[in-house]
Amino acid sequence: SNPQDSMVDVVVIGAGQAGLSAAFYLQKSGLEPNDGFVVLDQSERPGGAWQHRWPSLTLETVNGVSDLPGLKFSDVVPVEQSSVHASDAVPRYYEAFEEKFDLRVQRPVSVSVVCGGEERFRVETDRGIYWARGLINATGTWEKPFIPYYPGIDTFRGRQLHTKDYNTADEFRGKHTIVVGGGISAVQLIDEISRVTSTTWVTRSEPVFRDAPFDPELGRRAVALVEDRVRRGLPPGSVVSVTGIPVTEQVRDARSRGVLDRKPAFARIEPDGVRWKDGTFERADIIFWCTGFRSSLDHLAPLGLRGQGGGITMSGRLATQVAANPRVHLIGYGPSASTIGANRAGRAAVKELLATIDGVNP
Ligand code: FAD
Repeated sequence: SNPQDSMVDVVVIGAGQAGLSAAFYLQKSGLEPNDGFVVLDQSERPGGAWQHRWPSLTLETVNGVSDLPGLKFSDVVPVEQSSVHASDAVPRYYEAFEEKFDLRVQRPVSVSVVCGGEERFRVETDRGIYWARGLINATGTWEKPFIPYYPGIDTFRGRQLHTKDYNTADEFRGKHTIVVGGGISAVQLIDEISRVTSTTWVTRSEPVFRDAPFDPELGRRAVALVEDRVRRGLPPGSVVSVTGIPVTEQVRDARSRGVLDRKPAFARIEPDGVRWKDGTFERADIIFWCTGFRSSLDHLAPLGLRGQGGGITMSGRLATQVAANPRVHLIGYGPSASTIGANRAGRAAVKELLATIDGVNP
């Protein structure tokens, strides 16, 4: 190591809900920011993925953002501001949290690769190298939009967009759009786009709508299912397939306008549209992939965490600990990929990680 390298006990990568929760508990355990632990985030500003949410996502239309430990959301963003953009409100909240607990997040610092791990991990960034005894990865999914492969996908002459690219419905105006995907984002965005252009909704399987208000028991079951998958080394999979799409006012309205009559997956993509197995063709100007995200974990590739099941086998109380490498925790991953899950995962990861690093636990 050269003199510019930093030695720390724990590196936290990412300062979204998950990374901030971990930072809080590291601080609470007696480690000093920028000495015992460091939080690195590649964004210019606080907010995690929330700073990129599209403008129509307001505090009213999001599922809900759980309070981080020690600071109420409503103390930073008054509840009467429910029409405020989530992309403003949540970053404001995270910023207040970082300040209140003096977490000193280092940004913008982008981690390119993590290797080693005998004694210490070598965490390479665009601002130098950190040597850490333990690693908490909290990099979310926003950097890794997922688009499924279809034959002919490269021949399409129109535009292809992903949820990540969405800003407002305006750029779809007058352009026939095929919306692919069966999740909440797909439904919310079809509602918006179908007001300015014609749309066709395509989903692989029949979407499941849930008429009743959110049932915590159903939520727990969904999380348990994902947890079971990652403990067996499988990729996490989707939670919505278990909980269903909540039938909101917006969904009712979209339904009554007929825009939620879905078609099954097409067989191939052609230069001017898509074709189903039975030969039916539909012209399209835009294919809009609302097909979700995968975990941003490419920088961890040298650690060889992936197993034969195609996923990473997880262990520990909340399945945040990598079974093959107990000094690596993944939070905001799999069962903890929600704001409430991220809170709990941060706490569990810190407790377990510090217990595995000799002489750190005060
Ligand atoms: P993120 O918020 O994505 O934070 C990850 C951070 O890591 C980012 O700041 C990023 O810049 C940084 N990073 C990534 N890679 C690197 C790197 N290599 N080096 C350095 N830094 C890096 N959940 C809810 O609970 N309620 C909701 O209402 C809700 N609505 C959602 C709506 C949409 C459209 C989407 C896509 C998700 C929604 N979720 C919701 C899920 C939500 O995003 C997560 O629960 C949670 O906010 C993710 O937090 P995180 O800390 O894991 O990741």
